[in-house]
Formats: sequence, C-alpha cells, structure tokens
Amino acid sequence: IFSGSSFTMIGERTNVAGSRRFRNLIKAGDYESATKVARQQVEGGANIIDVNMDDGMLDAVSAMRRFLNQIAGEPDIARVPVMVDSSRFEVIEAGLACVQGKAIVNSLSLKEGEAEFLRQARLCRRYGASVVVMAFDEHGQATDTERRVAICKRAYRLLVHDAGFLPEDIIFDPNVLAIGTGIEEHDDYAVSFIESTRRIKEACPGVLISGGISNLSFSFRGNNRVREAIHSVFLYHAIQAGLDMGIVNAGQLEVYDEIPKELLTLVEDLVLNRTPDATEALLKWSERNESRGRTSAPTLAWRELPLEERIQYALLKGQTDFIDEDMAEARTCGEYEAPLNIIEGPLMTGMGTVGDLFGEGKMFLPQVVKSARVMKKAVAYLEPYMEEGAARSSAGRILMATVKGDVHDIGKNIVGVVLRCNGYDVIDMGVMVPAEQILETALRENVDMIGLSGLITPSLDEMVFVAKEMERRGIRLPLLIGGATTSKKHTAVKIAPVNAGVVAHVSDASRSVPTVSALLSDSTGTTADQLRVEYNEIRARWEARQKQRPLMSLAAARRMAYQRTAPCISTQVAYGVRDFSIPIEAVWALIDWGPFFLTWGLRASWKKQLANSSNAERYRELLEDASAMRAEFEAAGVRIRGRYGTFPAHRDGDDVVLEKGGVEFRFPMLRQQEQRRNEGAAYMSLADFVGGPGEEDILGAFVVTSGTELKPLIERFDTAHDDYSSIMAKALADRLAEAGTEWLHQQMRHEWGTEAPDSISLEDMLKGRYPGIRPAHGYPACPDHTEKATLWELLDGSEAGVTLSEHFAMIPAASVSGLVFPHPDADYFAVGRIGRDQVEDYAKRKRCTVAVAERWLAQNLAYDTSED
Ligand code: SAH
Repeated sequence: IFSGSSFTMIGERTNVAGSRRFRNLIKAGDYESATKVARQQVEGGANIIDVNMDDGMLDAVSAMRRFLNQIAGEPDIARVPVMVDSSRFEVIEAGLACVQGKAIVNSLSLKEGEAEFLRQARLCRRYGASVVVMAFDEHGQATDTERRVAICKRAYRLLVHDAGFLPEDIIFDPNVLAIGTGIEEHDDYAVSFIESTRRIKEACPGVLISGGISNLSFSFRGNNRVREAIHSVFLYHAIQAGLDMGIVNAGQLEVYDEIPKELLTLVEDLVLNRTPDATEALLKWSERNESRGRTSAPTLAWRELPLEERIQYALLKGQTDFIDEDMAEARTCGEYEAPLNIIEGPLMTGMGTVGDLFGEGKMFLPQVVKSARVMKKAVAYLEPYMEEGAARSSAGRILMATVKGDVHDIGKNIVGVVLRCNGYDVIDMGVMVPAEQILETALRENVDMIGLSGLITPSLDEMVFVAKEMERRGIRLPLLIGGATTSKKHTAVKIAPVNAGVVAHVSDASRSVPTVSALLSDSTGTTADQLRVEYNEIRARWEARQKQRPLMSLAAARRMAYQRTAPCISTQVAYGVRDFSIPIEAVWALIDWGPFFLTWGLRASWKKQLANSSNAERYRELLEDASAMRAEFEAAGVRIRGRYGTFPAHRDGDDVVLEKGGVEFRFPMLRQQEQRRNEGAAYMSLADFVGGPGEEDILGAFVVTSGTELKPLIERFDTAHDDYSSIMAKALADRLAEAGTEWLHQQMRHEWGTEAPDSISLEDMLKGRYPGIRPAHGYPACPDHTEKATLWELLDGSEAGVTLSEHFAMIPAASVSGLVFPHPDADYFAVGRIGRDQVEDYAKRKRCTVAVAERWLAQNLAYDTSED
C-alpha cells in the first residue's frame, strides 16, 4: 500500500477493546477461533500483532497468557513479533513471560512519575523487549506539539541514560487523537502529530515512531469509507514525516492514489486542518455518498428494478437516498393519475407489508421506524403537487398526547410511527397537553380514539382526570393508555372505573396495532366487553389482595426502623454547590445500554444477544446508529452538565435535613409499612441512613442533564421528517444523562473518600456495587415528586438549565436529579403501600393538607380515598 516506505503495520484486531468479535471469542473461551483472527491479520499484511485483553469482564492476566501460548504454537503467526498491549503492567509482565523472541511492550508512560517509569522500563529491558512510550506525563496526555516533544525527550533521556536502552528499542507514540469532533481545539491534532513525529526524530536520534491510527477517525464511526480515506491520508503524510509503524486494521486501508479526487481534497482539508469547516464538508459528502459507497453491488442492483419494486425495496430497507428521485419518476411517468394514487398505491402497499412483517415478528421496531421515515419523505415530496383537499383514506383517526405536566414522549412517538405505518391517521399533540385541549381537539378533529402517554407517576393521576373529564362531557371514545409507569393494573383499578367507555392499556408499540384495530372495528362491542370483563377481574383480584396484605401502624414500623452501622465518613469535605460540564467521551463507557434496547423493543440483555442470538445484527446496527448519533451530538457541542453539592446533614425523626448557609432544607421521607413475613425485617426509610443530630453527617444533592444543546438538533430531525433520528437522539440523550449521573456519583465518592480512585471495575460500577446510593424523587424509595421543589431551592436547579413542570417533570426530559447518601449501608428499596396514619403524619411534616399529600402519593395509598 505504501510502496517505497518501510512502514510496519501492526494488526489491531486481536484486541478485546477494539474488536467485538475477538472479545466475544475470548470471553467464550474459544481460543481456537481467536487464533484465526491473528492469522487473518498476518495474512492481511500485519508485520506485528498487537494483543490486548483489557476488559472489565476478563481475567486479563490469564487470558493474555493463554492466548500468547496458543499462538506460539502456530508457525504462520509466530513468525511475526507480538506487541503485548495493556494498561496494567502486571498483564504486560505476564505477557512478556510467554512471548518467545523479542517482544514489544505497549505501553509505558511517565503518568505515574519517573520512578515507576524506570522500574517498568528496566523490567522490560530484562526481557529484551522494545517499548512503546506514550506521550503522557504526571499532568496527563500531551495534546500540543510542544508537550508531545518535551515528554518524549524526557523519556528518551531516562531510557537511554538511566535504564540503558538502545535508541532502536524505543518507540514513541505521540498520541493519535480524534479529529473532526466538532471541537475546535481538536482540529489541529493530526497536524500536531505529524509535526511532533518530525521533531522527535530529530531530537531523539535512532528512535521509532508509532501510533494507533483508528483513533484519528473516531468521530466518523459507522462510515468506513471515510474512515479508511482519513487513515490513508494521515499515514501518507505522517510516513513522510518519519512515522515508522502504526496500529491499523491491516487489509482495510484505501490506497492513497485511489481515493476519488473530491473525497481526497475534503479529507486532506480535515487531516491537514486547511479549512475550518472541513468536518462539516466531509459529513455532507458522506451523507451524499454514504450508501452508494458502503454497499456497492447490491445497492446498484436494486436500482435496476422496475419503479414499484424499487419503492417497495426502499420502504422495506428503510432506504431514503433515492426516494425523492423515485417519487419524481412516479409523478411524471404517467402511471398514476394523481400524487394521491402514488401514496395509496405503491407506498401504502409497501407500508402494509412492513406492518404485516412487524406483526409477525419478522421486522423489528428500529427497522419499522426507518421504513416510516421513507414513507414520510415520500409524502413530503409529493405534498406540494397534491390537489387541495385531496384526503388520504385512513384506517382511523387517532389523537395522541403526553399528558399535562409530563415531557416524555419517546414511547408515544414510537407508537405513533407504528400506527401510521398501519394506515392510521395520527394527530400528535406533543407533550404537556392539558385535558381540556385534548378533548377539544378530539371533538374538533372528529377522531376515533384518544391515546394518552406519560412516564412520571403524577401522569397516572392526570390520566384518571382526563378519563373523568371525558365521562363528564359525554365524550364516548375508546381511550388508550401507555407509557413506562402505566400498567394494566393501574388502568383497570384507577382509570377504567371512572369512564363508562372502553379503556385499554397497551404495554408496547407492537401491541398497539392489534388493540387499536380490534377497538375500531368493534361494531358489535365484543372487544369492549371482553376488555371490561378482563379489567373487572384484575380489579377484583387487586382488591382481594389488598385485604390480605395488612399494614403495620406507623408507630410500630418506626420501632422496627433500620439501624445503620456507625458513621464511617470523614466530614472533612468541601461543602457548597458546584457546576460541571463534561464531554460525551467522559461518560460513554458508563452507559447502561439495557434500557436503550428496551426502548427499541429489543431485549435489555444486549451483550448476550450480540454474542449469539440470530438477531445480533439488529443490536449491532442500533449500536452503530447510536455511535453515529454520538458524532452528531459532538458536532452540535452536546455536553453533560449539572450541578451538585455536599451539605452537612442530619435526621430529625423521618425527615432528612440538609444545611446550606445556615438555612435548613427539609426532606420528609416515607417509611415502609407493609407487613413482612420475616420477623426481624426492618421497615425502611431513607432517613435511617443518616446520622442523628449528635452525629456529624453529610448528604449530596445533584441534577444532571444532557439536553441543554439538544433542541435544535431534534428540531432539525423533525423538519426532515426523520422520526428515526429524532427518537434515537432522545433515547441516547437519556442514556447520557444516566451515565453522567453515574460519573458524577463516582466523583462525589472520590471527593468524600468513600471510594478510592481506580478501586472498582467498570462492571461493578454499572451494577451499583459501590458504597452509597443516589435516590431520585419519584422513584420507589422516595416516591413524592413534589420534593424536587425543595431540591431545586437547595441547588438553584433552574440555574443549571433544568426546570420543573407543574407536575415536577424535569425539562429537558433527559435529566436526572436526586439526593446522594454516602453511607455504605444505604440501599435502594420500595416504600410500597402506606396507611392513612403515615399520610397524615407526612402531611404535617410537609406542611400541606392531607388531600394534597394523598394526591401526590396516590400510587402508594393502601386505602381508597373515594370512600371518604
Ligand atoms: N441504570 C439504569 C438506572 C435506572 S434508575 C438506567 O441507566 O436507566 C434511574 C435512577 O433512579 C438511578 O440512577 C437512581 O438515581 C434512582 N433509583 C433507582 N432505584 C431507586 C429507588 N428504589 N428509589 C429511589 N431512587 C432510585
């Protein structure tokens, strides 16, 4: 590829962090197949193979040993040197002990100071190994040329003079960092690397220079064509400056001379930082060319099909690239009398197939949403040509809204897309819609059904209100209930009884179509009757169970409170409120992807699914799309922001009191009352985890959001009729807010000294295996959303860019807030059902009326307020 140079390619695929396939093989213990990955690298032209086993779920030391021993027995692999790659020196030592012949260590650095650097270097020398030295020092990673060069010079002096290294055994890696991230400081990273290469070679005669090339194009993930071109261009220039080797995906590099002229110019603009808008221009280019470039042969083949088949293909595959072109042809080809016939003809036929396949479980939600995007684009193209008043026939008109006080709409939007795919006409009123507006619109638009959605618990009550209002105004329409906290039980127990019409709960998008179609074609009323019978049974069972599960009195429950062990925390901490703002990069690894896949109608056990399910491709695609969205976020400057603080705190009965500047902020807590079978069981309240007035104690408080910069992005997707990207952006933003909270929580533990830095694995962190909790108001341990009002006073939460709706939903939706309990005994639990005695006591402590307390705690009441 780079003829005329002696560039050495280091194969990167035998790296568990970089190759999903390799990681899965190693995790499954399939070393036989893992060896094949190494062989493919050598066959693909790798002159060295890099082996990395750094993964939270692996015993890296033994995996490294086992794999190196395995490949040592394969002559066609063993002929190339091995680069033992780990960020943990013990893994490197284990590797060095296994490698035959000369090894290369990847990597050492001055991160932990000179003494540790020299200790490690001397050990490597004893094994006769070469070393890769990263341009890091005690202050961190070098990102500008001066520091890159200075750190390498310093390491060179230490290695040659103090550790007795020969210069040719030293390989410097001046840090290949991502460009095209949308952050201006990053624009010069490639230029700086190339310049550093030149200068290090002059200053440190005899050394070699290397780099991990894939990092460079990190923000173009999902777009291999552009990535390969970036790598080739970078290598072309860096090799001229003296780059000797690089970790690359051998076998996947575009030949510099064969990069099309237009692309080459754009990539060189980016890599050499010749124009400030290089990233933007390259993204535009890839948008235009992406699909054509990525899948060459099959893409072209389907373009040869007759028009109708092309339209079917585009709908089924979610392919938007040619839809405008095909619509233009449809409009002018003379086949269809009017644009409406195109919609009702081939487009609806295609969507019908999509709907059927989804119903049969042969298509998945993300694909359906992508198909719907094609439909929307097609319709948007045809609309200007439609005659006024030309109305599409529809299977029924459905009004959908997220109720007053709630801002969550991912689920509602997905259901809307699915219903539209099935020929329904959906009127989406958006979020925070008051009952009155919903009903007025329903009447005015003459809809056939109303769908309500919501996520926070106060929305459940709001839905009951809407159902009552419908009844009061005599509006007899089927009412559909959906959203994360809704349930069949709640619908049956609380909503169905207040509305004499038919009320149906839909658990997820795939259930919405059969339910809606059954209700709308229910001329005899059998479906409605069946639903009523079913819900009456659920209600009867619920009432019976209520009676079987008695409560303890509040006084008795308090006597059985949880007794925490001695305070363990130093109160020598910095009090007060602080802001933070971090890039996506800082939290990406902390994302819990489970809920993301649930949003898309897939399973939360995504790792397992990726490894061996026949649907692995679905999961992979979604992760790739999430990565691509991350690049969009980064280009839009999305950051995770928030505000947090540490405060002196004590408990006062079941209240928790935080102090700030001499002012007390009181959070009344609730206590479990449901009688347990287990005699000694504690009846928990969050107050139990805090010290009494005599003891010194602290609590934290926080609000985190990833939604500050999101609005224009979502608006852009919405105007482009791109529901898929809009939903993807929201789902990803939710993940980032949660991951940011995980990150912040760890910062707080570090500040408080309840967890030593680097002491827990990523896996433990994601499973919550660390001291302390961060309960969020509205969740089971502290179910009262209105307490966020106090939290906002304490933190000045609105100043952090997050406001509260009238029902205490956080705006933007991608936000998390709560209190942080440092005590290691603290754990999450559910308050569950509570009695009138506690509600009365709580109302007193909260200084509100019993009726108000009952309203906000409706989901926890063990008694029926309507009896009063
Ligand atoms: N890892 C999941 C966490 C969801 S729970 C995700 O990424 O979606 C969301 C938040 O609710 C947690 O971070 C925690 O702050 C809080 N929480 C969890 N269980 C709770 C409980 N029983 N009571 C109060 N808050 C809880």
